[in-house]
Amino acid sequence: MKKVLGLVLAVVLCAAVFAGCSSQTNSVEKIKKAGEIVLLTNAQFPPYEYLGDDNNPAGVDIEIAQKIADELGVKLTVVDMDFDGLIPALNGGKGDFVAAGFTITEERKKSVDFSDPYATSTQMVIVTKEGPKVAEASVDALAGKTVGVQLGTTGDLFVTDEVEGATVKTYKSAIEAGMDLANGRLDAVVVDQLPAQSIVASNDKLMVYDEVLTTEQYAMAVKKGDTALLEVINKVLGEMKDGMTDLTQKHFDAYSGTPAA
Ligand code: GLN
Repeated sequence: MKKVLGLVLAVVLCAAVFAGCSSQTNSVEKIKKAGEIVLLTNAQFPPYEYLGDDNNPAGVDIEIAQKIADELGVKLTVVDMDFDGLIPALNGGKGDFVAAGFTITEERKKSVDFSDPYATSTQMVIVTKEGPKVAEASVDALAGKTVGVQLGTTGDLFVTDEVEGATVKTYKSAIEAGMDLANGRLDAVVVDQLPAQSIVASNDKLMVYDEVLTTEQYAMAVKKGDTALLEVINKVLGEMKDGMTDLTQKHFDAYSGTPAA
């Protein structure tokens, strides 16, 4: 009887170890088997992601994602969705990874794993050129003002948590917030550096202050514990590192030449 129990235990243990091993490599194997990797993004964040001339998502993140798909030998499928839905979609199995000019934060680290950082950004303040309602890029100058942000972003969190008495108006995209600012419905918009500069470059009525509110880093995100895919992403990011400045400039120019819809 003891022997039988021992054998059963051994079989169960082996199975457990095997399952543990396979769940490590499993995500990449599954992607290869499906012949497709699914990127979750919000294509309203130039130059990282925006809708190109053909109305398909384009941008820095999309090009990196294509290289990740090439590395795996599979097709890239881009799912364009609301920014605040990205983490629930990833954890709900709607996609394999998130690339969305996505800032590394301690809070997000509780629900996803981040890749190596591939860009440094800041939060900036956009105002109207004529009669700006906010005098400079500072917490004090923003106090009590009506500020537009993109829902669920670090800009949203910053204004909500740090700025006293601000009326925070949330938008699906900073591009929309920029339009409302240009139309006089907001005092300022707080958004990441390159989107801020892209929005201003394609809208004559707006300008952005040089000073910044915070500094942050972008990384891609995978489901917690998905080390197999994370390794592939980090390898590709490492290979693309030297070309990142040129790639970013290329998409900045491409978007700024295309006025916001
Ligand atoms: N970097 C910001 C964040 O992660 C905004 C990203 C975005 O709007 N795509 O919250």
